[in-house]
Amino acid sequence: MSLIAAIRVDICCRRAATEALAPMRELLDRHSVPATWCVATGPDRSGLALSNALLEPGFSRRMLRVNPLRTYGLRSLVAGTLLPAETIFSADVAKALIEMGAAGHEVALHGHDHRAWQNRIGRWPNERIAADLEASRAAIDSAGIEARGSAAPAWRATELSVEALSGLGLLWASDLRAREPLRLVNSGGKQQGPPQIPVNLPTCDELIAWPDVGSADRASTLAGMVRTLVSLPPPIPPLIYCAHPEVDALIDSRPLQRFVELLRAEGGRFATLGEIAVGLTDRLPLRRLKRARCRGRGGWVATDGSELPWLQHFGGELG
Ligand SMILES: [Zn+2]
Repeated sequence: MSLIAAIRVDICCRRAATEALAPMRELLDRHSVPATWCVATGPDRSGLALSNALLEPGFSRRMLRVNPLRTYGLRSLVAGTLLPAETIFSADVAKALIEMGAAGHEVALHGHDHRAWQNRIGRWPNERIAADLEASRAAIDSAGIEARGSAAPAWRATELSVEALSGLGLLWASDLRAREPLRLVNSGGKQQGPPQIPVNLPTCDELIAWPDVGSADRASTLAGMVRTLVSLPPPIPPLIYCAHPEVDALIDSRPLQRFVELLRAEGGRFATLGEIAVGLTDRLPLRRLKRARCRGRGGWVATDGSELPWLQHFGGELG
């Protein structure tokens, strides 16, 4: 079976959508990699990150290691608090994404109010989740872009949020940190949402937050994780790396570049998540949604209980 990989690029804040967007695209073009761009369409409330930092010790440690002023910029850090929140999916961003779509990239949903989803999804009722997804879908539709996939902001998915995807006619979702593509089933055994294509490698901003990995060792650490997945008994899952432009293009592009070089040296090729979804078997493993801590990331992420070196499971299923 051939080795296949994808780079998912998450646009979660204004900085990712403005000054980091062109450098990110140049980086991918230099390596001839078509990517899947998951775009939050609503307000940039990154400023709320400051209040998160006060609440979550893990988030706070990560923020201090990534140098928040350099990573997010002063404007993003106060956006939605001291300054009004700006819309992430502006006309300029839509234009850039349409161009990229024409050049072989894919555009997908990544929620509307990213920060609100990240902070409150566990408490949102059906109607609030549906309203966020509909707002996201409407913004992308109004730009004339067809989105066939969705990635939950910050890998925070619940049974309700996955169920809400069911009516959107999507080909794929990428809501989890897990080892391989799967289908989610709820507590009643019912399949929910489209096939899930999880991110199964650490992100650059997570690697930056690992205290035992120096800046010169991030690329080799990621390469070690790639080799671990490639050496699994076949079939090898598609390798999915998630980039954040404000980090991967502006702070440290070496892990992403090493990933691309290593994958190609192993005989692999890059595809979009949509292309990978088309090639998935009908008999994907059926899994329950669980929560884990992801090393270098604050709070919880959704998973299926996969054993991955950077995930720490809480135990128990997510109802
Ligand atoms: Zn995001």
